[in-house]
Amino acid sequence: MTDRDEGKALTGTNEAEAPLQSTRRRFLGQAGLGLLGAGLAGTTLAQSLAPTEKPSTTPEEKQPLPPEKRIGWAVVGLGGFALGQAIPALRQARKSRLVALVSGSPEKARRVADQNGVDLRNIYSYQNFDAIRDNPEIDVVYIILPNGLHAEYSVRASQAGKHVMSEKPMATSVAEAEAMVDAARAAGKKLMVAYRAQFEPRHVEVARLTRARVLGHPRAMIGEFLQNQGDPNQWRQNLKLAGGGSLVDVGLYPLNFSRFVLGEEPTQVAAQISTPQGDPRFREVEDRVAFTLTFPSGVVGHFMRGYSAHRSARFRVMSERGWADLDPAFQYEGNTLRVGRRVGQQEGSDLRNVENKSQFVLEIDELSSAILEAREPKTPGEEGVRDHRIMEAIYQSAREGRTVSLTMG
Ligand code: NAD
Repeated sequence: MTDRDEGKALTGTNEAEAPLQSTRRRFLGQAGLGLLGAGLAGTTLAQSLAPTEKPSTTPEEKQPLPPEKRIGWAVVGLGGFALGQAIPALRQARKSRLVALVSGSPEKARRVADQNGVDLRNIYSYQNFDAIRDNPEIDVVYIILPNGLHAEYSVRASQAGKHVMSEKPMATSVAEAEAMVDAARAAGKKLMVAYRAQFEPRHVEVARLTRARVLGHPRAMIGEFLQNQGDPNQWRQNLKLAGGGSLVDVGLYPLNFSRFVLGEEPTQVAAQISTPQGDPRFREVEDRVAFTLTFPSGVVGHFMRGYSAHRSARFRVMSERGWADLDPAFQYEGNTLRVGRRVGQQEGSDLRNVENKSQFVLEIDELSSAILEAREPKTPGEEGVRDHRIMEAIYQSAREGRTVSLTMG
């Protein structure tokens, strides 16, 4: 199983979806409310968890733009994620539309173009990629190639005068990531990293609850993302193409999300790596990585990621007066948020109902909105550079067997 399987929800704990406005009623009315609802006797709990400010209108909620006014996207690399998630999301987007494809397989590109209404003249190969500079229909280049190719195609796209969306991880080193940021800046174009968890509504709700101190001051976090890698010959097991093992692939999700949840940058990292000998999957890349991050507010986060265990993806923030728990977390669909707190002498927890929206559509339309509104996108290239600095410190800590201090620029 690989990252490609991320979209498969793990459990059947999916509650029926309803808009945020009805959350208060449902929260108190659910049979499972138990101690919490009983203890609160009224609307206290719901009010304390409800947004204090009206949520800002997301691009998805605004009227869709007519096709000729939308931002034109070219997808580079027609592999599992592009075909399974990115292109379907572009079909649902409100401000973005698919206008071009870049692929090493002309037959596949023609088939995908036919299925998605892309003009056959807008199909490119990796060889004639730079000719996109002459195509005014293309505004954004979405790079969905193996990690080791992101930097090259991102820099070339910037030099061709295009905005860039890069899949995660944005590169395979800090130096590559910085080169991507520099190229976009020199071209006066935008560069965004596809950190989908920052758009997924339940994950966003955890960040809101934490940053607004709804459950008091956050004290600790635990996050994990493990899965069993299959074919030892896939590019994810090749160091040059992947840039690392489980840390840079699935491990980046809890790492980036922990920074997003707190709105803080870690100051220290301590890490350990465990890789089985003789397993052909781990000739070049690591298996399990455990690391601890310390944040300026004193929050300590402990994280585990791996490539040799049955799929498990969770994230929990523990605060003074309660906890917020995503289990599963980081899925394409089916993420479930449970909030627990103490009321009087009793402990209780309940599912938090959050409106369902496609994280991929929100993410794609965020970059198009940023272009249309001449502002920075929510997860710009600099955000990815910070993650690469932390990942390099994690590898250094594990290698040298000591805590490493981080200074973020
Ligand atoms: P994939 O192997 O399914 O697709 C990779 C594509 O790149 C294929 O079309 C392949 O033909 C092409 N390619 C071009 N040059 C290549 C080369 N030298 N070696 C191998 N393939 C080459 O991979 P994927 O799962 O689609 O992942 C692509 C990117 O998307 C990665 O950066 C990955 O981290 C990211 N991804 C993100 C998510 C997410 O949830 N955001 C999920 C899966 C993958």
